[in-house]
Amino acid sequence: MNYSVTVLPGDGVGPEVIAEATKVLKAVEGQFGHSFDLSYGSVGGNAIDSHGTALPDETAELCENTGAILFGAVGGPKWDDPSAAVRPEDGILAIRKMLGLFANLRPVRVYPELINSSPIKPHLLEGVDMVVVRELTGGLYFATPKRRWQTSRGRRGVDTLRYTEAEIARIVRAGFELAMGRRKLLTSVDKANVLESSRLWREIADEVSADYPDVELEHVLVDNAAMQLIRNPAHFDVIVAENTFGDILTDEASVLSGSMGMLPSASLAGLPGSSGRRRRRAVSLYEPIHGTAPDIAGQGVANPIGAILSMALMLRYSFGLEDEARAVEDAVSGVLAEGYRTPDIAGDSGDIVSTTELGGVIAGRI
Ligand code: NAD
Repeated sequence: MNYSVTVLPGDGVGPEVIAEATKVLKAVEGQFGHSFDLSYGSVGGNAIDSHGTALPDETAELCENTGAILFGAVGGPKWDDPSAAVRPEDGILAIRKMLGLFANLRPVRVYPELINSSPIKPHLLEGVDMVVVRELTGGLYFATPKRRWQTSRGRRGVDTLRYTEAEIARIVRAGFELAMGRRKLLTSVDKANVLESSRLWREIADEVSADYPDVELEHVLVDNAAMQLIRNPAHFDVIVAENTFGDILTDEASVLSGSMGMLPSASLAGLPGSSGRRRRRAVSLYEPIHGTAPDIAGQGVANPIGAILSMALMLRYSFGLEDEARAVEDAVSGVLAEGYRTPDIAGDSGDIVSTTELGGVIAGRI
């Protein structure tokens, strides 16, 4: 089969880790007899430099007319001026909006070989395997009013946490759909003791649960969830949360896996199989959860595993290539078991290799 992929490496370590993900994708192509047609576009800081905008028209067009998007990361000190008219993040925010990517899936798995790379006690990490489903296009980050102003008694600022019933129902449903294929436990995170929007969230989660009698639904307040993620992370199966809560909890969860460089993500406009709610031809985006890591960019030491596992999620969710996705995930587990490490996960053991060497050994195991 032929598949088209738009590749947006971005800034900083983005191009370094995406080069390894495409290297492994080429190995999948060779082993499984598919053809992946890659089109490259500029986005973020480098697009501001070359086109004056974080998402040039030609990149937007590439994103709309493709099977899936593989994305690196955008941003960096060069474009950090808070008063700038255009910012690198505008690029990714515009793509999410344009494609209706409302569900951000972040699987968090702890590899037994890396248990000592995490600051958490090893016995707490055994069996950790969860997916955080973060709402991506609404909530506190987007609702209006959102502004700052001057009053006679000083400066003021406001953000708004607003959700519609439809927005909550579709993200909660995505959580249930995922849980159906896993351990069938859905943890809905909110702050219903304080926030009205959270009380609505909880009510709708209960209503949607009627369609999923096999899935156990539990409600956990976000502050408690933050604590339980460290105290008893193996408890969780699928977590669904509002945009801000999900953003914070997933960075916390990355500590379990030992490094920001390990974790992949998928941003979807609906889950495959979720009863007719998907856009007819949805394009999804896949990116490691980390940023551009300016402190290590250009040194050849970035961990490419988050990007490679994001590519595996693309094979699974956009192209339905489950065997191929598993082959990539098994190759990652295999090289970790053999002791290959980038510096961020080296701890006090293993063979330290460069970004390209790690990508090469993973590609070699496909
Ligand atoms: P970051 O994720 O870039 O880095 C945090 C820490 O994790 C750093 O110490 C870094 O060296 C390490 N790290 C990150 N990726 C790694 C990898 N692949 N291998 C090894 N170590 C890795 O977060 P930050 O420093 O807060 O942000 C840096 C820039 O990235 C900022 O401009 C920010 O706006 C941007 N950013 C972009 C995205 C995105 O494009 N989706 C996401 C987050 C941050």
